[in-house]
Amino acid sequence: MTTVVKAVNIHKYYRTGPEPLHVLKGINLEIYPGEFISIMGPSGSGKSTLMHIIGLLDKFDKGKLFIKGQDTRKLKDKQLAEFRGKKIGFVFQNFYLLNKYDVLNNVLLPTEYIYIPNAKAKALAILKKLGLEHRIHHKPNQLSGGQRQRVAIARALIADPALILADEPTGNLDSKTGKQIMEIFSDLHKQGKTIIIITHDPEITKWTQRTIYIRDGQIINYDK
Ligand code: ADP
Ligand code: MG
Repeated sequence: MTTVVKAVNIHKYYRTGPEPLHVLKGINLEIYPGEFISIMGPSGSGKSTLMHIIGLLDKFDKGKLFIKGQDTRKLKDKQLAEFRGKKIGFVFQNFYLLNKYDVLNNVLLPTEYIYIPNAKAKALAILKKLGLEHRIHHKPNQLSGGQRQRVAIARALIADPALILADEPTGNLDSKTGKQIMEIFSDLHKQGKTIIIITHDPEITKWTQRTIYIRDGQIINYDK
């Protein structure tokens, strides 16, 4: 079976300080279609760095990364941006919605970069599923945290991506709202989506099928 993500011996250094910082030290992982995975580790262990690399938002120094079988190093910048837009949906702890746009136009943002057939009808259908049909003309700052994160999830779904990457998606929410957000990811998993949740919270890993533990830039074991 083709992997959705295959990382082979990935190394990453940050070179912003006086000494290069070796943040990822040979990451190997394989994620298959339909998997619901958590990547768990303490703060500073390299989780967000790994998510940015898997999400093609950042480059790595050594190793190989295949997304749906595509060797991502073979893509030039413009192809890479289009590939990312079509294949990967992102959800972040801080939502990253634009306050100058209403909910509907936030969900439609990816259409500025990639072609999505019937985007508006799709956006409305997804927003309805997520219980936001009465909020489509609100601005993000008029919404609760849980509603904002649902808008971000709708935006992540609009291109029907092969992979959803969520970095601490409940990190800014109270536990009840966080549970509602995890229920949405769980439903998406049941619908066949491939989802990776990044977390430092052991409670969150209980929702997922499989947990990859990372510590100090290395995967320390591969299962619960
Ligand atoms: P986590 O998400 O697990 O908390 P990160 O991937 O954000 O970990 O960070 C891993 C390490 O890399 C930390 O030591 C952090 O300070 C460092 N780091 C993260 N981003 C940068 C950056 N842009 N420049 C330099 N160092 C960074
Ligand atoms: Mg992080």
